[in-house]
Amino acid sequence: MATIFTKIAKGEIPSYKVAENDDYYAFLDINPLAAGHTLVIPKHVEDDYIFHLEEDVYLGLCAFARKVAVAIKAAVPCKRVGVAVLGMEVPHVHIHLVPLSSESDLDFRKEKLAMTADEFAAIAASIQKEYEKL
Ligand code: AMP
Repeated sequence: MATIFTKIAKGEIPSYKVAENDDYYAFLDINPLAAGHTLVIPKHVEDDYIFHLEEDVYLGLCAFARKVAVAIKAAVPCKRVGVAVLGMEVPHVHIHLVPLSSESDLDFRKEKLAMTADEFAAIAASIQKEYEKL
């Protein structure tokens, strides 16, 4: 059975898309640590552990995440974009990209940000706009 993230990448479940190419997809985390918190996934591989990926898929995912992070940094006021890989919840490889103003912004135990649908849509659009410039 397809994972929830495969369904998101196929458009079968809605998401706030920020970037996409043939093999990878980026969308906003629905329970963000900070505004602009983004997840980056491989579209066609459903393994649940990033270090199980074939090297070319892994390197492609990292290259795509780098580009998305550059777009996030341009679109969202922050000091830098932090990177985390957990995979404790969703069994489909994903990289978290989190705009950081301080170290505590990458603390997954902290209370998540409440954002409206309009706020999610606006931030996704501004990251997407920056991504398209790259
Ligand atoms: P983890 O597997 O521990 O890296 O956590 C999974 C992440 O996916 C969490 O931060 C969730 O908020 C996020 N998440 C789960 N379902 C969705 C969804 N449908 N859309 C966006 N983000 C999601």
